[in-house]
Amino acid sequence: MAQIRMPAHVLNLIGNTPLLRLQEIARDLNGVEIYAKAEWFNPGGSVKDRPAANIIREAERTGQLTRDKILLDATSGNTGIAYAMICAARGYRARLCMPATASEERQRILRAYGADMVLTNPREGSDGAIREARRLFSENPDLYFYADQYSNPANWQAHYRTTAPEIWEQTQGRITHFIAGLGTSGTFVGTARRLRELNPNIRLISFQPDAPLHGLEGLKHMATAIVPCIYDPELADEDRRVPSEAAYAMMRRLAREEGLLVGSSGAAAAHVALEVAREIRCGVVVTLFPDSGTRYLSEERLWNEV
Ligand code: PMP
Repeated sequence: MAQIRMPAHVLNLIGNTPLLRLQEIARDLNGVEIYAKAEWFNPGGSVKDRPAANIIREAERTGQLTRDKILLDATSGNTGIAYAMICAARGYRARLCMPATASEERQRILRAYGADMVLTNPREGSDGAIREARRLFSENPDLYFYADQYSNPANWQAHYRTTAPEIWEQTQGRITHFIAGLGTSGTFVGTARRLRELNPNIRLISFQPDAPLHGLEGLKHMATAIVPCIYDPELADEDRRVPSEAAYAMMRRLAREEGLLVGSSGAAAAHVALEVAREIRCGVVVTLFPDSGTRYLSEERLWNEV
């Protein structure tokens, strides 16, 4: 029986997301189990609630964030939504720089939470948003708390303290392979560091889009992007590449065969998980679904069969 949840504050709903077993897409694989954490169960709808909450908590604790400051950062969307939600709940203003191509759904959600948006040149991608946030901060350093999710250790530490122990407990320590995509790299770095301490035999696999111009929202092609300071390329046993089209095909399969509407980075993760599962004879492969497919419904081409 499901546990009855007692009344709670919205911020206490972050984390403790369900671990889903992928049944249908792994049907022909004997001996290998594939699981994914349903991160859209977080109250802001994505994995980024975890680092945003930890960044804000740390900044409050160290006195960097006070009521007279505006939280400033660059974000492709999900971190912005998480900041906007938490800032609304804790009484702070948020100013978020993002490429003007950020989906209509995302922009509407940010407006609904009352955040300020600074839209940047789409041709410069997420790096253009980072440059704009740096410029705004350097112009007016006293006005802002610059959260800087790409350099802030509280980003990866959120996953070290919550995502990894949850995976460990939910698989009863049986996990053999961990897979995550690289954006700021916080999810991979934090979760992988803790899992390696818990069991050094767990194989740690990161992945990236296979090209600089890609359609995998939230992920970075490291070779051509501003590399986040928190990224540690030495941590992964393997770093794979995923074509956007393979992820889109997996989005449709997950929706139609598993009943799971996930975003493109989650579908890319399922694609890599299946690739890895086919290469081994037995194991427990775990990844994350960072957000839901409902965030991408206006991008019709993703959902149409080729
Ligand atoms: N997928 C989505 C949809 C995201 O928004 C993000 C965050 N940029 C990621 C994956 C990557 O997570 P991280 O920043 O922790 O590497």
